[in-house]
Amino acid sequence: MRILATNDDGIFSEGLKLLVEALADLGEIIVVAPDHEQSASSHSLTLNRPLRMQRIREHWYAVDGTPTDCVNLGVQGLLKEEPPDLVVSGINFGPNLGGDVSYSGTVSAAFEASMHQLPGIAFSQEVAERSSRREANVTASFEAAAELAREVVAALIAGEVPRDLLLNVNFPASTPLGVRWTRLGKRSYRQTVVEKRDPKGRKYYWIAGTPEWEQETGTDYEALMAGYVAVTPLHLDLTDYRGLEDSAPLRDRLEHVGVAESGRDGGATG
Ligand code: MN
Repeated sequence: MRILATNDDGIFSEGLKLLVEALADLGEIIVVAPDHEQSASSHSLTLNRPLRMQRIREHWYAVDGTPTDCVNLGVQGLLKEEPPDLVVSGINFGPNLGGDVSYSGTVSAAFEASMHQLPGIAFSQEVAERSSRREANVTASFEAAAELAREVVAALIAGEVPRDLLLNVNFPASTPLGVRWTRLGKRSYRQTVVEKRDPKGRKYYWIAGTPEWEQETGTDYEALMAGYVAVTPLHLDLTDYRGLEDSAPLRDRLEHVGVAESGRDGGATG
């Protein structure tokens, strides 16, 4: 078992170190991770400049790019001859729930694995609000999460792992009561943009605010709030299959857009 590990908090983050240590006895772990924090970098790919990979120590490589760059350099470059069987990402500092997975560099690394026909798992740890990365209780929860991450990976590789497996795993800040199989929840920000003025009177903005979640059963948010580990299977196919079935009137309107009326010369081409 060969596992490629990455994250979006940077190669020197505690969550990555603990994850790699916890998985060590399950196989050979190769780390290719960003050389500095890339949180909220989403699924971005660096195409407008060269990327550099630096060997930090045995099996650890830092890249001056995004988590998606790291998966590409790992799978298509460094491990080209002996590709990994699994890609893991995290453990992220802070949860990645609901629609936030679309911002997440941590989850995007797992998405990228999927694009290379490799199973991917993203791990994130909820932390109490305003906790610093150095607090003892935060370190303890990351250690517990790393142990559980090991159990999740061990349980997975005990059977056949589908090549398109994509899991988003979130650990609660408290000691987990168990694991729940969930779907993505829905978040709405109460206040998203904060406007301020600088000393010269010019406006500037912070994207901030208090997250609010819709209270729905079966979601990752609900499971995490109830003290459970939330495991959400994801898929790269963003097609709204329900909408494909349910939106017939809209479909009819859209399918007439750009189509010449009958009786004319057969319609525009091109
Ligand atoms: Mn992060």
